[in-house]
Amino acid sequence: MSSIFTKIISGEIPSNIVFENAKVAAFLDINPLTPGHTLVVPKVEQDNWETLDPKLFAEMNRVAQLVGKAIKIVYQPARVGLVIAGFEVPHTHIHVFGANSMEDFDFSKAKTDVSPAELAQTGTDLSTALKNLT
Ligand code: 5GP
Repeated sequence: MSSIFTKIISGEIPSNIVFENAKVAAFLDINPLTPGHTLVVPKVEQDNWETLDPKLFAEMNRVAQLVGKAIKIVYQPARVGLVIAGFEVPHTHIHVFGANSMEDFDFSKAKTDVSPAELAQTGTDLSTALKNLT
């Protein structure tokens, strides 16, 4: 069975995709730690990052860095956090999110009530910033 992220990338499940190329997609996390929290995901479905093709992992990190720049431009956080966890979705992904303190790295405090309209506006803002960076 396809992962939820494969279904997002194929358009079967709605999402806010902010960047996409042949190898990688980046879309907003539905439960953001902070505004603009984005997941960078390879199109190939693989659970663990340690065994990814190094070139693909490098491409994920290149895209994560672009997303980080866009988050910095749009939201001006003190730092941009980068985390790989994978305890919920077994399709490897990099979390990229703005952070103003270590509290912003606490996944137990992720927001579960962000409206679709707010996510859509965030998606538009980040996509625009990313287009200007690429
Ligand atoms: P992890 O697997 O790294 O522990 O976390 C998976 C992340 O995927 C969580 O932050 C969660 O909010 C996000 N997530 C889970 N289901 C969906 C979904 O259907 N759409 C989107 N955009 N994000 C999701």
